[in-house]
Amino acid sequence: MFSKILIANRGEIAVRVIRACKEMGISSVAVYSEADRDALHVSLADESVCIGPAPVGDSYLNMPAIIEAAVLTGAQAIHPGYGLLSENARFASMCEECHIAFIGPPADVIRKMGDKDAARKTMQVAGVPVIPGCDVVEDPAKAQEEADRIGYPLLVKARSGGGGRGIRLVQSREEFPKAFATAGAEAQSAFGDGAVYLEKYLSPVKHIEMQLICDHAGNVVCLGERECSIQRKNQKLIEESPSPAVTPKIRKKMIEVSAKAAKAAGYRGVGTIEFLFDKDQNFYFCEMNTRLQVEHPVTEMVTGIDLVKWQIRVAAGLSLSFTQDDISMNGCAIECRINAENPEKNYRPSCGRISLLHVPGGPWVRFDTALYQDYTVPPFYDSMIAKLIVHAQTREEAIRKMQAALCEMIIEGVEHNGTLQIDIISDPVFKAGQYYTNYMENRG
Ligand code: ADP
Ligand code: ADP
Ligand code: MG
Repeated sequence: MFSKILIANRGEIAVRVIRACKEMGISSVAVYSEADRDALHVSLADESVCIGPAPVGDSYLNMPAIIEAAVLTGAQAIHPGYGLLSENARFASMCEECHIAFIGPPADVIRKMGDKDAARKTMQVAGVPVIPGCDVVEDPAKAQEEADRIGYPLLVKARSGGGGRGIRLVQSREEFPKAFATAGAEAQSAFGDGAVYLEKYLSPVKHIEMQLICDHAGNVVCLGERECSIQRKNQKLIEESPSPAVTPKIRKKMIEVSAKAAKAAGYRGVGTIEFLFDKDQNFYFCEMNTRLQVEHPVTEMVTGIDLVKWQIRVAAGLSLSFTQDDISMNGCAIECRINAENPEKNYRPSCGRISLLHVPGGPWVRFDTALYQDYTVPPFYDSMIAKLIVHAQTREEAIRKMQAALCEMIIEGVEHNGTLQIDIISDPVFKAGQYYTNYMENRG
């Protein structure tokens, strides 16, 4: 087992990983930008290294500075968290070259799955249903032909897109040529890769994803599903497990398909396969996330398995101590993402000093955050400042627990989406579980 791990991230996820290290008797090294000197992850870690100025390009994405910090402090492994460098194959191979364990799958697996077009092909070969569409297409005339074949509405998707970005909806044939041209240019500037492909736009659909964990010995275990259909601009807002739409029979099928897909990808570590799920209970591969997911706590709550600890153990070469038959999903867990933004003012991001913080409590209430009283939320990073997670025996009870916890939560000093979250979970549509990825749009 590793004796020291460097955490190449910030915010609540850095705190989450440091906590796991502490419980496992592993020393932790935090890295931080000049804007994060007073951040919680820095004070919780055993050691810390400043890696550059506030902008992520100069600090949290500064690969040489992070590797150097690991070498300097003698860390044997790097945990990348989510976002930032977590799906960067170049960074993973740099770690490999420096004999530092990257806590994630091998670089070539990240590369293969991070290329959405290649991932689609891998899944097709493995017999996993994929969304009808086409491969990467460059020539506008050929693209038009493919678009007409697929039919409208459709999506132009960036091969290297992520975080809800790089996806463009095309309603009709007339819109296509212009949308195709601008999508390519936008992808080039956002991801440094202008390649795009086309996919049929499925609607209404649910976003249902399967959590996997795989070890070096080839054991693959699927920890069931999470439903993440409450999204705004393709970014998740609320996640729950199990999904109210998934029957035991469908779950069994989805688990089988996901395990098959993980094997086909040569997967190792924790990872998630995202599916779109239609009203007839057909499901289609959407993408694979080769990292720990923001919403991993809901799976931890229902399965009782600490995903971060297992991620570390598997990266250290240990085998899973449980099999698929040992996994059962107990009760229901819900997560609400708390973002520092004002939903009334077009979701304008907010930052500033936290003048008052009251964290909701009680049994089976979990609040993952890097906030503390008097902490100043800087303007440079992602707007997610906390995740509120509850667990109960039934979905009804979990919803009531979430309502109570959200009402109890006090975060003053920044604007946030707490009231919007209360409104959503109190909505009869949400309560009935009959919501789709278009929920936020329909709400107006
Ligand atoms: P999850 O699937 O775990 O919910 P998200 O799509 O919310 O992941 O992404 C996790 C985090 O990483 C978010 O903070 C998101 O903004 C960021 N992120 C992921 N991929 C990208 C990307 N290509 N560009 C910018 N941000 C990204
Ligand atoms: P990202 O890497 O940004 O997470 P995804 O491919 O996972 O991109 O898509 C993000 C979200 O966009 C999905 O959760 C879903 O809501 C929506 N989406 C993606 N592809 C389709 C599609 N073909 N039809 C309908 N919705 C889609
Ligand atoms: Mg996705």
